Amino acid sequence: MTTDNKLAEEALRYHSEERPGKIGIVPTKPHRTQYDLSLAYSPGVAVPSRIIAQTPEKIYDYTGKGNLVAVVSNGTAVLGLGNIGPLAAKPVMEGKCMLFKTFAGIDAFDIEVAETDPDAFVRAVRAIAPTFGGINLEDIKAPECFEIEARLRDELDIPVMHDDQHGTAIITSAALLNGAKIAGKEIARLRVVVNGAGAAAIACARLFLSLGVRRENMVLCDSRGVVSAHREDLNPLKREFATPRRISTLAEALHDADVFLGVSKADTLTPEMLRTMASNPIVMALANPDPEIAYDTAVVSRPDIIFATGRSDYPNQVNNVLGFPYIFRGALDVRASKINEEMKLAAAHAIAALAREPIPASVLRAYNLEKLEFGRSYLIPKPLDPRLLCTVATAVARAAVESGVARRPVADWDAYAERLRT
Ligand code: NAP
Ligand code: MG
Repeated sequence: MTTDNKLAEEALRYHSEERPGKIGIVPTKPHRTQYDLSLAYSPGVAVPSRIIAQTPEKIYDYTGKGNLVAVVSNGTAVLGLGNIGPLAAKPVMEGKCMLFKTFAGIDAFDIEVAETDPDAFVRAVRAIAPTFGGINLEDIKAPECFEIEARLRDELDIPVMHDDQHGTAIITSAALLNGAKIAGKEIARLRVVVNGAGAAAIACARLFLSLGVRRENMVLCDSRGVVSAHREDLNPLKREFATPRRISTLAEALHDADVFLGVSKADTLTPEMLRTMASNPIVMALANPDPEIAYDTAVVSRPDIIFATGRSDYPNQVNNVLGFPYIFRGALDVRASKINEEMKLAAAHAIAALAREPIPASVLRAYNLEKLEFGRSYLIPKPLDPRLLCTVATAVARAAVESGVARRPVADWDAYAERLRT
């Protein structure tokens, strides 16, 4: 049997054995006696309900809302699978819920919505929002994802984040910060080429600007080449990044560039293009499952490369699980009304800083490694690093408080961090 066949078989068994699916629900209060039941349901339950009817914020004291996230998708852009619809998206969304729970103790429901029209989708999510403390939008295709997220962020008073946009932007920003450090380059002078101008690309480009990359040093490319001001076919999001330069191909854009971020398609970056980049090029080839350039080809073509992919079988995996569980943990803990730019930047800096710390033995053991230290092959933390929870959630919560979107400020940050660690 080939490895792929074996994996396929085991994946099906994993999803079906005992009880189908990957998540369930457990009660959090005693429920054995008649008296327990009279507290849990009628008549006792009427007491908190009356209080909440009068004072809505009390919902956080008497229900699970404050620790509950909805993972909402319409299945229009699922992983590398494309538009497979809401039913087929369910295993993926259940998986995401499992990651929320195991990495950050957050309860999450997967909600698959059979609506592709942004208006109808927004209405559906808005209508169920009272249940949740936060909304993670997932695998919704561009350009609809931009309007859906913007409207829900505006209309709801709980954190809403489209992870394929901002989760990705946060992790690539962490990799960019550390890549620049290793290359000995200043962020403000980096020449950046983003291949792709879709959901992930636009969010990455925007967060790069917040990090200090200069707009005039950035070029985006889409399936038709350079996103340039001379084109007539650009949507408003692409137009935001259109370059005035008279260039039209990725190859031209990459001449002397310091950074390539690929959030596009497999095999779009050639060794020839790579060789024209500046010294110590930072290359993040994130197309999944096959990157813009294969690992082996990339490292042979440019021995001085600083290289990351979206894959777990090579160094520097840009994995969104480094971000979303902890970003929501921090946001929920201070009851933030938004996940704003300050919180995203704080998360990126915290993730980057963690990779520069010595690695605990437990992390080395988890990956069967003898040694790992900050450098070309270790730009960003490993997903199973338990320090991520405390480091990233605390940074995000603090940024929420400092930027004025927290409704429950933390009085004692040391105690908060300690609680996360235990
Ligand atoms: P998307 O919204 O569909 O955007 C894809 C973009 O790629 C579009 O702008 C498209 O151009 C462009 N494109 C297609 N073919 C191209 C080519 N030959 N040259 C240059 N650009 C090309 O998808 P997305 O959600 O942003 O994701 C894009 C890729 O990144 C996927 O493979 C995804 O799996 C990967 N990704 C990885 C991670 C991770 O590893 N953590 C996170 C997010 C995304 P047009 O606009 O002209 O159609
Ligand atoms: Mg996704």
